[in-house]
Amino acid sequence: MNIFARVSHPIRHWTVGRYWEQVFMEIDKAKCVGCGNCHAICPMGAISLDVNGNSVVDQDKCVECSTCHRVLRDEGYPPWFVRAVRRVLSFLHLQYLAEVDVCPTGALKPPELEWPRSLRAAFSDPTVVHVGTGVGGRGTEEIKTNDVTGRLREGEAGIVVELGRPGTGTLLRDVEKVAMALSPLEPAFEPFNPVTQLMVDTATGKMNEEVLDEKVLSAIIEVKTRLERIPEYLRALEDVHGETDAVYSVGIASKCLPDRSIPHEEWVRGAGYALSPNGKTNLGLGRPLFRGASI
Ligand code: SF4
Ligand code: SF4
Repeated sequence: MNIFARVSHPIRHWTVGRYWEQVFMEIDKAKCVGCGNCHAICPMGAISLDVNGNSVVDQDKCVECSTCHRVLRDEGYPPWFVRAVRRVLSFLHLQYLAEVDVCPTGALKPPELEWPRSLRAAFSDPTVVHVGTGVGGRGTEEIKTNDVTGRLREGEAGIVVELGRPGTGTLLRDVEKVAMALSPLEPAFEPFNPVTQLMVDTATGKMNEEVLDEKVLSAIIEVKTRLERIPEYLRALEDVHGETDAVYSVGIASKCLPDRSIPHEEWVRGAGYALSPNGKTNLGLGRPLFRGASI
């Protein structure tokens, strides 16, 4: 069973009867008055005006983040009323400055997403929880809960490659390309990560073919390796960089030693890269869930 087929959203389930034929974020042309409020709020620039002055969603660009529907309040005015008010004001050479956080007519229609399009929401809508990891957003806790999960131990390095940003997003095809470029190094792909869970073969990084054309806001590849192998990974990432359309950033983590030194620092600097150190100090309130933990 593919766990992502079960990705769900409470609002979408509630609307299943009403919008049962609609499988993309859409705008009701009969209701839209072309105010443009939804254009500015879309992180992908996927909404524009058509020749009739109605807003339309570019379905290739849309990552189903639901920001437009979640953030804009539905004022619930009838479209004829909004148009009539505008006409009168225009006749009087006046202008109504509407609030920018509203859709005056409730024209945005949330979809009932189907697989594999549902993946777009899973990776882009922070209110959707990844079924396979129980985590929202990009679906992984990364190193942040290491004291409890013990993902990284001494001598190990965690490498995350975050592909996509608001404005550009990333195709899962590009995510696969980067994962496959790392696979000759025999990384341990993190099992509690939704990108790993989309792979049909974790030895090669190959992902399920039917998801590759889906676009998401961002996705994180997460691997574990030995500290001394960091330079090889950075070289492999440099090599594949020109073969993808996605922007990506690379993060490296390791467990600080008792003398407060950062074990991966020498390996990253030795490979010719600068670091922007980020720290996280846990207060020790979580109960470690891994073997070998000192409680
Ligand atoms: S906010 Fe609503 S009415 Fe305004 S352009 Fe967008 S969909 Fe149309
Ligand atoms: S769902 Fe997100 S990407 Fe799609 S049109 Fe709305 S804001 Fe833009």
